[in-house]
Amino acid sequence: MKKVLKKPQASQLHPVPNEAANRLRFFTERKDAITETIRQLVEIESPSDNKAAVDQLGVLLAGRFEKIGGHAKFHRAQSYGDHLQVDFSGARSGKPVLLLGHIDTVYPMGTLSTMPCRVAEGRLWGPGALDMKSGIALILHALEGLRTWHGDTVPRPVTVLLVTDEEVGSESSRRITESLARKSEAVLVLEPSYGLKGAVKTARKGVGEYTVKVTGKSAHSGLDFDKGESAVVEMARQITAITKLVNLKRGLTLNVGVISGGTRTNVIPAQATASLDVRVTHMKDAAAIDRQLRALKPFNRKCKLEIKGAVNRPPMERGPGVAMLYKKASEIAKGLGWKLEEAAVGGGSDGNFTASLGIPTLDGLGGVGEGAHATHESIIISELPRRATLLAELIERT
Ligand SMILES: [Zn+2]
Repeated sequence: MKKVLKKPQASQLHPVPNEAANRLRFFTERKDAITETIRQLVEIESPSDNKAAVDQLGVLLAGRFEKIGGHAKFHRAQSYGDHLQVDFSGARSGKPVLLLGHIDTVYPMGTLSTMPCRVAEGRLWGPGALDMKSGIALILHALEGLRTWHGDTVPRPVTVLLVTDEEVGSESSRRITESLARKSEAVLVLEPSYGLKGAVKTARKGVGEYTVKVTGKSAHSGLDFDKGESAVVEMARQITAITKLVNLKRGLTLNVGVISGGTRTNVIPAQATASLDVRVTHMKDAAAIDRQLRALKPFNRKCKLEIKGAVNRPPMERGPGVAMLYKKASEIAKGLGWKLEEAAVGGGSDGNFTASLGIPTLDGLGGVGEGAHATHESIIISELPRRATLLAELIERT
């Protein structure tokens, strides 16, 4: 056994350059303030389908960003909350870096009464804590840090976009996200990190949703069995055909998640519907699977088949822009004495839109925790300082 004379300091185990250490200390001293911001954001519920609630949080956030020198404006949305854009002009000129996130959560109004926001076991628990109110808090505090170190201004132009419909497909915000991304140097997405080690996300699958509708012909199952054309039987055969399109090796999956059909046991069903979720790893599979689904033909020629849907989030592939940003982030993390891992995940985010436009995008820069969309959703408080440091340095160096 090695003889240890003096207990090594943490800094000796992982040598940390001075400036990075100072910045980490800055955020460590503000850990409680960051936690308090997250608590405040979690305690204002913001389900995607409740415009008034989401708008209330949007207004509060606009105020917080204005307080640290940002110029806030809203993109009005009719059925969702207004999307919030905040611009910071920055000490040097050039393209901004886009910090992307969403205000909405999947939790219906009133969830706080059964799932209250609380701090326990070193974590902050509550609806949306991980996905992604901690990410929003990290943006606020990272920008505040940068302003402190750079004489009350951020070192480079920054645009923040917080949309309100990400959890329901981003139909209303997609164009805003894409147009701001096109004007930006890079996009940093504050969605939750992956796993308890806090890996960033460098690849995400593309996501699509389709509905298959079969129309047959109803008849009395006892008196006129031969006159009916069962939509349910036809649907069963279609589901088998659809399932054969799965290609796990290529990361291409189809899940028929919901089916319905028929009216009574003694009626040959005239209607059946199936809804499916499609995930693609590669861009070219999106078009191919769309073609294959649309080419489905009825097995029973007397039944009618209708197919609707699309791949609405293209995959985020690990292109050169993504790889370059990951390299930069892992160098920053290394300087802080930590190994930042990367992960490829099946879920989509708005980062899929920006990456597929060829804009360098790094996702999963938000909080570290578990239980997104679940009753045990929580973030690890001790991870907040280094996530804030990483974000601040990435904004500065990108
Ligand atoms: Zn999210």
